[in-house]
Amino acid sequence: MTKQTKKQPRKESTDQEEIVTFHYDKVDDFSTWFTEINKRAELSDQRYGVKGLVVFRAWTTVTLKIMYRLLEEDLERHGHLPVIFPALVPESNLIKEAQHVEGFAPEVFWCTRSGADNIFEEPLALRPTSESAIYPLYALWIRSWRDLPFKRYQSVAIWRYDTKMTRPFLRGREFYWIEAHNVFATAKDAEDQVLEDLAITKNFVEGHLAIPIIVLIRPQWDKFPGAVYTVAGESILPNGRFIQNSTSHMLGDNFARAYNVKFVDENEEEQYAQQTCFGPGISRMYGGLIIMHGDDDGLIFPFSLAPIQVVIIPIPKKGAKKAVEERCKELEAKLRKAGFRVYFDNTEKRPGDKYYHWEMRGVPLRLEIGNREVQDNTATIFRRDLRTRETSSVDNLTKTVKKTGNVITKELWRRAKTHFDNSFQNADTFEEICEIINQNKAARINFCTLEMKGLECAEKIKEATGADIRGVKLGEDEKPWGSCPMCGEPATVVAYVGKSY
Ligand SMILES: [Zn+2]
Repeated sequence: MTKQTKKQPRKESTDQEEIVTFHYDKVDDFSTWFTEINKRAELSDQRYGVKGLVVFRAWTTVTLKIMYRLLEEDLERHGHLPVIFPALVPESNLIKEAQHVEGFAPEVFWCTRSGADNIFEEPLALRPTSESAIYPLYALWIRSWRDLPFKRYQSVAIWRYDTKMTRPFLRGREFYWIEAHNVFATAKDAEDQVLEDLAITKNFVEGHLAIPIIVLIRPQWDKFPGAVYTVAGESILPNGRFIQNSTSHMLGDNFARAYNVKFVDENEEEQYAQQTCFGPGISRMYGGLIIMHGDDDGLIFPFSLAPIQVVIIPIPKKGAKKAVEERCKELEAKLRKAGFRVYFDNTEKRPGDKYYHWEMRGVPLRLEIGNREVQDNTATIFRRDLRTRETSSVDNLTKTVKKTGNVITKELWRRAKTHFDNSFQNADTFEEICEIINQNKAARINFCTLEMKGLECAEKIKEATGADIRGVKLGEDEKPWGSCPMCGEPATVVAYVGKSY
């Protein structure tokens, strides 16, 4: 069979108009692509009426829920149990850890009254993150070394009054994540948890989202407020920007001291606990997913995350409508029984319109069923990633769908990995840093230090390029090959520099 022809004429979108085609240049005009795909694939709606708060529509929410479930299952396999804490945090709890409150205070939404004039005695914060909600209860629940390790997570929304420009999924004032909060007897156990968090992130982002990650220890000036250190699992989008999939924070006993989380050890002595927290950002990872794999014709979902994995389109000749429909229904039932998310599009639209509709939405596989397929007992299968067709016998269909689905995810991984491998370039001088960032890449540089005194050099880079020091690779002792290009001091680390969302 032939390849689909590309480059269809595009129509401007309006809310009422039926979608005809989608074709935007994702690389050269990313902003338009992103705006249009949001609107036309019905991913999110920004007309809610509060800046930074967006509505996630069904096509997005189905995938978000799949992502949640996959990650939750992995956390539970690693010994975490689910909990649900209230969204409102009393002010007196929020302000207990000094660095924490200083870091978050400017972004907190406050709830101060009910009705017209019942002013609360104590203002309540909408959680910007849940340490201050959870740890006062941990102080009551945890008594002895026998209670440890204590690993809990919740799947919730959080609110931060972000003052930067907002974008659906990538930056907003409300976002959806999982937060895991863990308590240990020793610092070693806590540090091992940070590593486990990153292994979970890597497994999820690389395995299911088909996107490579780089694990970076953040500079001291960019760590989680109140933490000892912060590690992030990041990806690089096609426009060269870093996106933070998850962070894991070693809290030491900083929060335990503030919230009085103590335990009695094996020698009957009372000790402050060691803590960690972990936050995979589900809605942001979703943003990374659609941006990374989409092409000029719309979205492409990895097979395991597609809201619909297989769409069935009938293409009957005159007089054969019934037979083709019957066959489509049989195939739908067969695939559904095998566990696939499948949809038989038996609407009145023309087949070509249905093709565009589901291609733009990123459905990985399409079955085209006409008279010949019915007669020959076959199905024509269209692959969204390569836009090619193949034929499968009906008997082998379940196997072929499974296999082709996996091959599509592998192809998406291959493309993302190629991009990732080409995203980093070494820079020796300030001019080279600027050049690399301008080319939408990330720079790898010699850097004086990630301790606070390196901040001045970082700020100079930020001012000139808009890029941040994202950090140093975790677990890989990369040796600097020169001095810091900003201050001339001997470099202690190899740092990664880039723009981010
Ligand atoms: Zn320096």
